Amino acid sequence: MLRISQAMSYFPKRLGHSWFDFVSFNYLRGRRRSKEKTGGQQLVYFGKLLHQKAFVSATDGNLSVRLDDHRILATPTAIGKGMMQVRDMVVVDETGVKLKGKRDVSSEIGMHLTIYKLRPDVGAVVHAHPCTATAFACAGIALDEPLCSELVMTLGSVPLAPYGTTGTAELSESLLPFIPYYNAILMANHGVVAYGKTPCEAYHRMEAVEHFARIVLATRQIGKQMLLDGDQIQKLLEAKHRYGVSPSGAGK
Ligand SMILES: [Zn+2]
Repeated sequence: MLRISQAMSYFPKRLGHSWFDFVSFNYLRGRRRSKEKTGGQQLVYFGKLLHQKAFVSATDGNLSVRLDDHRILATPTAIGKGMMQVRDMVVVDETGVKLKGKRDVSSEIGMHLTIYKLRPDVGAVVHAHPCTATAFACAGIALDEPLCSELVMTLGSVPLAPYGTTGTAELSESLLPFIPYYNAILMANHGVVAYGKTPCEAYHRMEAVEHFARIVLATRQIGKQMLLDGDQIQKLLEAKHRYGVSPSGAGK
């Protein structure tokens, strides 16, 4: 009778590999699959939140998560963000070439890849069209007024990137000057992109941008704004470092 130890040494030798290679290959494949599954579950969850919050309509918006140095898991094109399943997700490499998945990846994947390239600290990207923030983007107004103490500490200011045609390199190029310094950007006549270490952090930043936009709009409707002064902002930034609040950008 063939013993287990004999079988273990037989098959890998026939394949020209050691048993260790055989086990580690399966181990790595298992780890890859579980990372894809976890990432897919996160994209499904935060896609549903985007839809529930009305940050997207119809098939708008897209999300992605970095799996490793060369692979990104992203939402597909032409699907409602509240209707996605884990199996709908697409794996692409750092240049956007599809590695895995039945569907086609979002046409706005180039913007995600540019952010991952410029910001090694970023692990997830969320793009949506929340109404109030997008209205500011369509009016050509950045959300950079120091109005709310909490937001100065967490989100920082949100710049406005010039218009770029969606689904083209023009869109990514318009974001280039801002990506290293901010964690959320308004895209003129389009929407918002936010990013962070995790899908949760990226989503929270998207939510904070829309919340901030509503406050700015309300103060403009009231007709009065009391901006924080330089001294107050400095104290908030010092408190941010003391409490270890996640920085508003990689460089600022
Ligand atoms: Zn868009």
